[in-house]
Amino acid sequence: MFESKLLYGVLRQLGAWVVVTPDLKGFRRPDSSDVSLGRCALTALFWVLSKQVLSSTHPLDPDEETPPVAHPSPNSTEEVLVSEQNEKLVVITGAGGFIGGHLVSAFRARGYKAIRAVDIKPLTDWYQRFDDVENLSLDLNRRENCEIAARGAHEIYNLAANMGGMGFIENNKALCMLSVLINTQMLQAAIQHRVPRYFYSSSACVYNADKQKTFEAPSLKEEDAYPAMPEDGYGWEKLFSERMCRHFREDFGLRARMARFHNVYGPWGTWYGGREKAPAAMCRKVIEAKVTGKHEIEIWGSGEQTRSFMYIDDCVKGIDLIMESDILEAINLGSSEAVTINQLVDITEEIAGIKLKRKYDLTAPKGVNGRNSDNTLIQKLLHWEPNTTLRAGMEKTYRWIYDQYLARERGDSGVVREVFVASN
Ligand code: NAD
Repeated sequence: MFESKLLYGVLRQLGAWVVVTPDLKGFRRPDSSDVSLGRCALTALFWVLSKQVLSSTHPLDPDEETPPVAHPSPNSTEEVLVSEQNEKLVVITGAGGFIGGHLVSAFRARGYKAIRAVDIKPLTDWYQRFDDVENLSLDLNRRENCEIAARGAHEIYNLAANMGGMGFIENNKALCMLSVLINTQMLQAAIQHRVPRYFYSSSACVYNADKQKTFEAPSLKEEDAYPAMPEDGYGWEKLFSERMCRHFREDFGLRARMARFHNVYGPWGTWYGGREKAPAAMCRKVIEAKVTGKHEIEIWGSGEQTRSFMYIDDCVKGIDLIMESDILEAINLGSSEAVTINQLVDITEEIAGIKLKRKYDLTAPKGVNGRNSDNTLIQKLLHWEPNTTLRAGMEKTYRWIYDQYLARERGDSGVVREVFVASN
């Protein structure tokens, strides 16, 4: 039995390698349109062999792999692989939040049939919710809930965390550090349930503060996280959790991947209430000024701080590429288009067609002076980097927040929530 499973595993790995192996353009999933005929033929061979090995033995341990769901006969090897892949259970934590909600949406769009979305918030508070997905409201600080979340999963994307913009991070350090419980319990549950693949969402806040003292947008390379002096609270938790993922990979063979997100923004992100980040806050403030006629804007700090901002579509694409890659250490996932906060306000004003009087609050939380994503490594390894321009991303974000703002003014309660009903 063990030998059969081993042989089955080797054949499956070889089959997977044939389709998921990198080419010059980057990494490809089985649904890629440029899978060559040669690859298809080899894949078919491995697939048939592995099925024969499997059928000559007992069924797999249900804990070890999600049993394939019956489906109509596929027409080609490529379709077989796509449907096999799409029927494996994907678990997304933090799914009621901004990035998690977009990730669920992306997996649905790719045809994944088994998606489990988990968040601590009541379902009615999720930003995006899909009724054809298994939606669970669970507190993942608790081990027993992580077990429920992990059971039967093929991949876990852990995006659950207590987080927000600089105002939230600087005033809630203990709460941010408590997110360490989520990742710790999820990792243990993943091992317990033999989940093969795990993604962890780290942050640019892991970088050494000493390297971010100037306003000249220092580009942070992956090695700049050490010696460790990250953002107090939130950054320490992220750096510690990265290391924990690394050691779970080394000690338990978990295929863990980690990305350091740099300021993600876009529709269905938090835009009011204290957890919003700079792009959403700027849109809201400019819209407020436009709607109320009070042509003033308050800016936290001197406005000379530099940052880069990554549009949500790039973030979702990067997560997928990194998860499919052989990149073992945490890697930057961010835009390298650095701007000052003043320039971010300029862009927002241009989109709104308005010019505002700026008031600077030098006592407000403002974070480090300068930070940008050095994308040398991601370009080298994936031949890609986030490339949505700030102007293009902000236009979409501004339009979405504008509608949300007006809906809230009308007294709509949900504001940033959206429930999608499956069409079939
Ligand atoms: P978000 O706040 O919109 O989503 C996080 C979700 O986690 C929330 O819906 C929250 O309810 C949920 N959560 C918190 N505690 C939980 C618990 N105990 N159990 C279950 N769910 C819990 O944030 P986001 O912007 O979508 O961020 C997702 C991930 O990406 C986080 O880990 C965050 O630290 C990381 N990240 C985000 C950014 C960014 O700019 N948005 C930058 C760097 C890193």
